[in-house]
Amino acid sequence: MASQPETTRGETDDAAAVSTESESTLETARRQLSHAADYLDIDPSIVERLKHPKKVHEVTVPIKRDDGTVEVFSGYRAQHDSVRGPFKGGLRYHPDVTRDECVGLGMWMTWKCAVMNIPFGGAKGGIAIDPKELSTAEKERLTRRFAQEIRDVIGPNQDIPAPDMGTDPQTMAWLMDAYSMQEGETIPGVVTGKPPVIGGSEGREEAPGRSVAIITQLVCEHYDRPLGDATVAIQGYGSVGANAARLLDEWGATVVAISDVNGAMYDPSGIDTAAVPSHDEEPEAVTTYADEVISNEELLTLDVDVLIPAALGNVITAENAAAIAADFVVEGANGPTTSAADSTLAERDIAVIPDILANAGGVTVSYFEWLQDINRRAWSLDRVNDELEAEMQTAWNAVQTEFERRDVTWRDAAYIVALSRIAEAHEARGLWP
Ligand code: GLU
Repeated sequence: MASQPETTRGETDDAAAVSTESESTLETARRQLSHAADYLDIDPSIVERLKHPKKVHEVTVPIKRDDGTVEVFSGYRAQHDSVRGPFKGGLRYHPDVTRDECVGLGMWMTWKCAVMNIPFGGAKGGIAIDPKELSTAEKERLTRRFAQEIRDVIGPNQDIPAPDMGTDPQTMAWLMDAYSMQEGETIPGVVTGKPPVIGGSEGREEAPGRSVAIITQLVCEHYDRPLGDATVAIQGYGSVGANAARLLDEWGATVVAISDVNGAMYDPSGIDTAAVPSHDEEPEAVTTYADEVISNEELLTLDVDVLIPAALGNVITAENAAAIAADFVVEGANGPTTSAADSTLAERDIAVIPDILANAGGVTVSYFEWLQDINRRAWSLDRVNDELEAEMQTAWNAVQTEFERRDVTWRDAAYIVALSRIAEAHEARGLWP
């Protein structure tokens, strides 16, 4: 059975661990790397190096529960590559978090930052825990203790965490506070995705969904499909799915299906997305607003122009790839398509715009936030959105050029752009000692 999408609070719905095929996140990430490297004349030792993280930190995080008992959890921070700048990537609170999953997700962050041409490397971390089982006070104690355990290996010039599944701006605020208290000075640039009142950026929370919407518009333009005529189905109604849905709705697309963990709302005449609360506004409410409810599996195989998986990883699999009826898949989640499904979709000429480009608005606005923190000067929301749009267009142009020049998939084209930049940086810096 395919994994069910879930929407935990926070930056939530942008990825997951559950696999319906035997391939793990790390295996998928390595396979994609090898595949893209075949198109490029890169020193094989650099490719080999990129298959492995620079370092993985594993820590024990004990916390006192509200009832006075002590529980112990495992936390990780996988730092993949920093040739282009400090490590960058989210922190995930989810029961399926493992060391290897953090490594695979950290690799994707390296490619994501490179395809966007922002001066960061890649990392990912997290704690194997179900945040839904913690009170707010417990989450705060967990986060502060985790911050203490990884304090030596993070920092504004070293490694900059951000929200991911199960974590949110409040989590980042605690992390920043715990770090700053120990350093003896306020250091907002140690994390991104904070509340704006303490140095977070306007527009950061909406940014991954905004980039998904921008990329959907660009892919429709590329294939001469006016957005005003396009139908869209979106899996997941957390920060990525809901923001993408509302923007596309506003820009004239017809959003016919949206979903959460309980199922999907389907309306072929178009959903008024503003009238349906996102997971952050009212958790798991989508189906309660629906006249017609279909399953998440049915949503994935709807005959629409654009399918946006924006919930879990590994939802488009060998089992359902042949039944996908959309013309374009825009990946809002991290890793929603397995390698086997990717091959089937390519054979069927379905354009899959990869996560490392489509949802990269999050880390791009994280970069803007980091710049604002360093300069101690906030940008307006208009400036953030304008600059994000410009960065997305530039990245799209670079990927589109490779797509057209080499006659490859969109995923391969994005990897080629990213890998060329990373390999060039490794060549320039060399191996030391
Ligand atoms: N967790 C987000 C992602 O997967 C954002 C990472 C960041 O802003 O550093 O892209």
